[in-house]
Amino acid sequence: MHQCYYCEQLFDSKEELYEHVEVHSDIERNKEIMERKKEKSKDSSSK
Ligand SMILES: [Zn+2]
Repeated sequence: MHQCYYCEQLFDSKEELYEHVEVHSDIERNKEIMERKKEKSKDSSSK
């Protein structure tokens, strides 16, 4: 058994787990982009 360390869902194979984890890494990436956007907009509004 392989467990996702993000949401604790269980998978029979490593391959399935890897595929699933990509969903989380995508979310992480999106978060980063959002954070960056926020900072940018914050920066421009302060000027
Ligand atoms: Zn997960």
